[in-house]
Amino acid sequence: MNRAVGIFAHPDDEAIIIGGTLIQLAEMGWETHLICATKGEASTAYDREYVKKEDLGPVREQELLKAAEILGVKEVQFLDYLDATLVNQDEAEAVAKLSERLNALQPELIYTFEVNGISHHPDHKTIHQWVMKLLKEGRLNYEPQAVYLATVDNRAGRLKNGKLMGSPIEEITTIIEIERVAAQKAKAILAHRTQLNMLVNNGLIVDGALQRNHRHEYFIKLDGKGQAVQLAEKETQLPEVHKP
Ligand SMILES: [Zn+2]
Repeated sequence: MNRAVGIFAHPDDEAIIIGGTLIQLAEMGWETHLICATKGEASTAYDREYVKKEDLGPVREQELLKAAEILGVKEVQFLDYLDATLVNQDEAEAVAKLSERLNALQPELIYTFEVNGISHHPDHKTIHQWVMKLLKEGRLNYEPQAVYLATVDNRAGRLKNGKLMGSPIEEITTIIEIERVAAQKAKAILAHRTQLNMLVNNGLIVDGALQRNHRHEYFIKLDGKGQAVQLAEKETQLPEVHKP
């Protein structure tokens, strides 16, 4: 089965980080899926005039389902952890739960966060660790074709805390141009209505469109066992589906 899965922490990670890739994979015939660890109920960036704090979880769950539809994603699963608690979860239990979901789906392509979670968010870093642990421990009952760690080019700027966001360009193996689907990606990002103020304030969305210098998505490619791969030059194409 030509399946690809994105494993992330919060509703909006998928659209912001790999939205353009998900759209194009679906167009190419990949059956795309998302596994989201939480419902984003601990967001501090939400629009207070639009939603009450206590409604954030269910509202953001619906926002993710709407974004997924725009991205052409077939199915969204939640791990039902509480937002901002991943680092405190029992790791063995979480790895077992995630392995079970992956073994049922058997996706050939796995997309998740790079080691610093792009933004250094503890939930993002924990998801990366869970995925790497299940690969290294051989918890999958099949071997994926590739694992892609989503990142950004760290020359793009620093976070408020002074840390660099993303990865050095030398470590990035794969750069996917998303210009053609930028409007569709913006629509999926905007489906996360509760987060709109943050998305506009941080400059990702300008006048309803994706900011001009956000027209590429960046990855570090690993093999199906989670080992680094050496590519002669940077990859710029998405993997083809297997012809049956
Ligand atoms: Zn997140």
